[in-house]
Amino acid sequence: MFAGAACLTVLALLSQTAKDKESVGDPKPKADETAASAAAEPKKVVKTEKEWQKTLSRQQFMVLRRKATEEAFTGKYWNNHARGVYSCAGCGAKLFDSRTKFESGTGWPSFFMPAGRGSVATALDYSAVEPRVEVMCAACNGHLGHVFNDGPPPTGQRYCINSASLKFIPESRGGAASKTKTKAKSSAKAKAKAKPAEVDEPAPATSKPKSDE
Ligand code: FE
Repeated sequence: MFAGAACLTVLALLSQTAKDKESVGDPKPKADETAASAAAEPKKVVKTEKEWQKTLSRQQFMVLRRKATEEAFTGKYWNNHARGVYSCAGCGAKLFDSRTKFESGTGWPSFFMPAGRGSVATALDYSAVEPRVEVMCAACNGHLGHVFNDGPPPTGQRYCINSASLKFIPESRGGAASKTKTKAKSSAKAKAKAKPAEVDEPAPATSKPKSDE
């Protein structure tokens, strides 16, 4: 009788120890951690070369899928100062925000940071004399340009991007940022009249010539 009770006690202790180990060694992700992970990992877009050719212009295809570089000062967006979002011309993923665009003097659209964590991917590129860091769309793997460490604060980085890789979506055409701004605008309409326009764009950068894209 006594031996049976002792045996049951030992079994109960072993069971509790196993539960403790499980709770320490295998933590379940919290809801916000799961959401952050999902945000950092965009949904992959995979198409065949023929499919890309059907949906992209020749220049977009050559830049995005063949890693070509457009000529400086010829793209649609190097001198674009409008507010909005730059998405991938291949898959539509949000890549850069106009508030991080600056005047680099290179002739290519330049940004000091991507739109979000995980929106772009990077890889070492040895195709030129000096090794460079290639920037790609994290969703469709399309070539965007290169990133250099000679950008302005706060990051010190210069994402030098081909216009052909991008599709600019002005804020006035919709989107969350636009809606939020519109709502805020209407609620503070009277105040806005008295205040000068807000300047969110970074100060024009250096006119010092920089390395090519
Ligand atoms: Fe893409």
